Amino acid sequence: MNLALMTQRPRLGHTVVRANMVGAGAALTIAGFLLIVFQFIALHAALVRDVHVQARIIGANSVAALLFNDRHAAEETLGALGASPPLRAAGVFTALRKPLALYQHGEAAPVRAPDAAMLREEDVSTLTTLEVVEPVESERRVIGYVVIRSSLFDLYMQLLGYAVLTVSVGIGAMGVAYLVCARMRRAVLQAEAHLDYLAHIDSVTELPNRHAFNERLQVSLKRAGQAGAVGLLLLDLDNFKVVNDTLGHNNGDRLLRQVARRLNEVIEQANLRAVLCRIGGDEFAIIAELSGRASITPSDAAELADGLAKRILAALAAPFALDLHQIYVTASVGVSLYPHDARDVQALTRNADTAMYYAKNRGKNAAASFTSEMDQQARRRLRVEADLRRALDREELLLAYQPQVRLQGLDTDSATVPTAHVHGVEALVRWRHPEIGVIGPGEFIAVAEETGLIVPLGQWVLRTACQQAARWMREDGVTLRVSVNLSARQARDPALVQNVLSVLAETGLPPHMLELEITESVLMEDIEANIALLEALHVAGISLSIDDFGTGYSSLAYLQRFPIQKLKIDRSFVQRMPGDGEAIAGAVIAMAHSLKMEVVAEGVEDPEQLALLRKAGCDLGQGYLFSRPLQAENLRAWLKRQDGVENAVSNTASDDGAAPTAALPTSFVG
Ligand code: C2E
Ligand code: CA
Ligand code: CA
Repeated sequence: MNLALMTQRPRLGHTVVRANMVGAGAALTIAGFLLIVFQFIALHAALVRDVHVQARIIGANSVAALLFNDRHAAEETLGALGASPPLRAAGVFTALRKPLALYQHGEAAPVRAPDAAMLREEDVSTLTTLEVVEPVESERRVIGYVVIRSSLFDLYMQLLGYAVLTVSVGIGAMGVAYLVCARMRRAVLQAEAHLDYLAHIDSVTELPNRHAFNERLQVSLKRAGQAGAVGLLLLDLDNFKVVNDTLGHNNGDRLLRQVARRLNEVIEQANLRAVLCRIGGDEFAIIAELSGRASITPSDAAELADGLAKRILAALAAPFALDLHQIYVTASVGVSLYPHDARDVQALTRNADTAMYYAKNRGKNAAASFTSEMDQQARRRLRVEADLRRALDREELLLAYQPQVRLQGLDTDSATVPTAHVHGVEALVRWRHPEIGVIGPGEFIAVAEETGLIVPLGQWVLRTACQQAARWMREDGVTLRVSVNLSARQARDPALVQNVLSVLAETGLPPHMLELEITESVLMEDIEANIALLEALHVAGISLSIDDFGTGYSSLAYLQRFPIQKLKIDRSFVQRMPGDGEAIAGAVIAMAHSLKMEVVAEGVEDPEQLALLRKAGCDLGQGYLFSRPLQAENLRAWLKRQDGVENAVSNTASDDGAAPTAALPTSFVG
């Protein structure tokens, strides 16, 4: 793929070499030309000098001949010039510029008597000849002239030799320059290829990186055109961080390479034109060209992509070997299809991401295909995330309280709707969003947890609940123990115990009137730390209960080490009553009682469940059968309708049940 990308771009290496060679050639040409011109000027000047010297020698030897008008002697003197072939013609002239003797070499034309201009210049040059004149003197008197004409042929021949030499040297220099450039070019090309590699390839897995992924997806979409289909699978490892944190980054990298290898095997077996990229720490992407250019129905494309996602999950199911460890890795996969779900790279990636998060939120180790509802959910989630920060400041949060009822001693036979012994209430937070309306905690607690807002939010819940319980005590003379839910992050907050104690001091609520609920899964996350935490709270006199019991993996050996007074059987088991929920509830109740804990059944909705729970010995119940979660004022009204709050419960209050008379708007209901 890299090569394909490379050839599309102009190569720096080629450009550098061409520019260098052209530059060197131009410089050499100019230098050579200047050298030759300079050489011509120098040679010409030397020739002029030489011919003048010769003319002077002839002149000196011709003095007597001129004085005595001896033509023969003058001719003899000129005859000596025959030894120098370039001197083509010469003549000795009298002072009156009459020829005394003339000499010609071969066919050359004779020299003419010097005219005034010639005498002034002393030499005259044409393209092919040089003619000089020297006066001949005797006793300081000009008695004649010697004129010599020399051919420039030799000079040109010399110049030609020189030019040949210059050009040869130039060519040699260019050759050397070319070799140097070629080496440079190789170096530049290598550097370029390396840069290209770094820019497109992830160094850990040697897969195309995010940058290359974007380019490749673009290419695939283009290739698919109008008719074809492309499946984009985004894959995020569910527990990679744990591996990295516990086994170190080296092992983390090795795991990523092994995962990459398995994914590539899946792609090969699937027989699809697909490419695997690593686009983030533990995120991979697969671009699968589902049909090439050919047309394919959306349902066939979806089936192909789903099949690939399933194969991926299956391929990751087998353990990975790292050192002596067997590592189990799961992934959440999001699938988005071109052109069905989106038509451009950004939207397609965003949709696959949305689907991937959907799969992750649905309990991980799963694949999900994008739907437009997911998109709406994702938008809503973003909205919730953005607005939650202001919700606290703008006092948009409020608490609803759901009664917990003591079951033993209830007279269930006398009325279809049971009377209630009100033991306490659980505080459940709601958010009255100015535009959306009331939002339940199921939607925003997780967001608050992720953003860290849960700490101030939890603190607000705690303070408000304690204030309310203290007010019921003070103003209504009602003692209602209030239960407050603790989130995972709150449980890890080292300042938690101190915060709880100062809220109690501030609100004047006795510690035994507060109960904290911690879910089973949070409790088992860090057993030793939680034992210390719960111990500190217990010593302060605060009650503790395990929420959603049965949904996590409690180690029973540890359970008795926690200073816990209550177990809350998760609603899902009560829902399965009558049915298989009965056995589970029975077992939990027996076990809790043997550990000296009380049991609360959550989500009691009908009298039959109540009867079964009572029969199984369940201590407390909470659910729509008694009351939905109510705002403080409505709860007060509900309580008034029960005959006597503390332990005495009258039959007249029993008809309230699942439909509270002064209930919250239905959207408040949990
Ligand atoms: P949870 O602690 O298990 O609370 C019980 C949930 O069951 C409540 O939902 C309640 O309205 C609902 N419920 C009670 N009786 C019935 C019933 O008979 N039938 C059905 N179908 N549901 C019933 P809600 O209020 O939506 O709260 C959901 C979860 O949000 C809570 O589960 C709890 O985990 C969390 N949450 C609520 N308030 C807070 C809070 O202040 N802090 C933290 N950290 N979590 C909270
Ligand atoms: Ca709870
Ligand atoms: Ca619960």
